[in-house]
Amino acid sequence: MNLVDDKTIVRQYFNSTGFDRWQRIYGDGKVNKVQLDIRTGHQKTVDTVIEWLQADGNLPGLSVCDAGCGVGSLSIPLAEAGAIVCASDISEKMVAEAYDRSTAVPGKLYNISFAAQDLEALTGNFHTVICLDVLIHYPQNKAAEMIAHLSSIAQSRLILSFAPKTLALTALKKFGELFPGPSKTTRAYQHREADIIKILESNGFVVKRTAMNSTSFYYSRLLEAVRK
Ligand code: SAM
Repeated sequence: MNLVDDKTIVRQYFNSTGFDRWQRIYGDGKVNKVQLDIRTGHQKTVDTVIEWLQADGNLPGLSVCDAGCGVGSLSIPLAEAGAIVCASDISEKMVAEAYDRSTAVPGKLYNISFAAQDLEALTGNFHTVICLDVLIHYPQNKAAEMIAHLSSIAQSRLILSFAPKTLALTALKKFGELFPGPSKTTRAYQHREADIIKILESNGFVVKRTAMNSTSFYYSRLLEAVRK
């Protein structure tokens, strides 16, 4: 399967069954145990990024690109904290949901804009580019191109999260593949941390902060890379 196919499938998925599933996981309504576990894990990733950015003390006015923003789980709190946020996603439905959620927060947010766009078509120049849990949709041989593009629009910092490829997780995934249920939808790609760091370094970045956010069903390695 080539990336065009992967991207088309991902876009269709997040505009249909994937939208229904993920907007519930990334919400606060009732969900099943596995989904609740994933919600908790994902929230840890979002909270870690917000903590890092708050700790730097320059969030108000900071230009941030949230590439593959989903329903705005990170974009909206960052905008509430004063960042100037460009939130985009390949799925029209996800980005429309993000917009709706942004209008539901108290007080109007004038510092957030939304676009339905493939992140590899994004243009501009942002202090910080963030891309959370999107690399899971990218095969290993396409990750370098994707990260190079995000690097090209990041002035100072790139924050990425991905499902780490470790022996234990590979075994778990293989075990899961023995029982394909109706919720098995798009392919999930894990990445070796060493590969991601090498790509970041070849684009002029050095890793500054790291975190591992995991629960029983959610595993996400988070890297903050800054220009050398
Ligand atoms: N980053 C969000 C978060 O952490 O809340 C959403 C994560 S969700 C697992 C993955 C998102 O990536 C989906 O909304 C999907 O539509 C989006 N996505 C996948 N491939 C993309 C691409 N090439 N360009 C933009 N968005 C993409």
